Amino acid sequence: MQIIKAEDLGFCFGVRHAIKTAEQMARQYGKVDTLGDLVHNTQVVQRLEQQGVRIVDTFDDVDGAKVMFTAHGVGEKVYDEARARGLQTIDATCPLVRNVQQAVRDLANHGFFVLVFGDKDHVEVRGVLGWANGQALAATEARFDAMTVRRWNKVGIVSQTTQDPRRFTQFVNSFISQYNDDVQEIRVINTICLPTRRQKQSAIDLARRVDLMIVVGGRHSANTRHLAEICQEVGVETHHIERPEEIQVSWLRGRERVGVTAGSSTPDDIIDRVVGHLEEMARRAESQDMAAHRHEAAFSATSGARDGYPDTASTAGGSR
Ligand code: SF4
Repeated sequence: MQIIKAEDLGFCFGVRHAIKTAEQMARQYGKVDTLGDLVHNTQVVQRLEQQGVRIVDTFDDVDGAKVMFTAHGVGEKVYDEARARGLQTIDATCPLVRNVQQAVRDLANHGFFVLVFGDKDHVEVRGVLGWANGQALAATEARFDAMTVRRWNKVGIVSQTTQDPRRFTQFVNSFISQYNDDVQEIRVINTICLPTRRQKQSAIDLARRVDLMIVVGGRHSANTRHLAEICQEVGVETHHIERPEEIQVSWLRGRERVGVTAGSSTPDDIIDRVVGHLEEMARRAESQDMAAHRHEAAFSATSGARDGYPDTASTAGGSR
């Protein structure tokens, strides 16, 4: 059994940078509070906690004078509130998320109502919506009341950075085909980030070459769930796991090539452990197969002799 890793997998540069910043701050000041999860991965969050990186849900919970914003970014008013409370901010917003925030702000400033293609409850999307001066909403289906769309008049469309490019295209096409005549202008900005696109494409490429895909990452990670979905859509059996211990022997039976990919919140060491675990399972399965094969061969030789069908060597010996 061959274990093949996707070409692009695991931590993206935005998450890597945010984690490094948090670790540095914790080392420098003994601890650091981050507003919301730094990364959607329980194992990483626990490890960071041990280093002094603490997650807080609101500014009320901040212990000290510093607070860190994660790679997902926050809305414009959150900066104002931090300032008003006298908090010093450490901003680890990914530059690609910042591009989306700026695009949304520019569109809103130019009179566009902004549609953000994405999960309205996702922290990045909530932050992005917070740059539109109230002139935006998030959606994954282009189904709106025609009267409302007419009132919007000019519509800008952007995407959550980690969305699937094909679904974004479908959303845009669906909106245009339904409401083109109801608005004066539709402006589309593709804000899906390049690392996400590369990671998804390499997962698809790999899923086409293997007979089982293992997708590693937090169950709360939208990006990891998307990866698992697109591998399934290729038609290959796919399992989403958080830890190597979740891999079941039955998944591997009869497989020749197993592909491994991981979401952008999955650290390198978990990926390495999964690959190591798979290799160990493959080695064990192989030696069990060989032992079974030897046992079968030995059994057929002895039973053959017992049944009066001796092998060539015995026949030759017997004729002398
Ligand atoms: Fe930045 Fe893309 Fe990573 Fe989000 S997924 S943090 S936008 S690189």
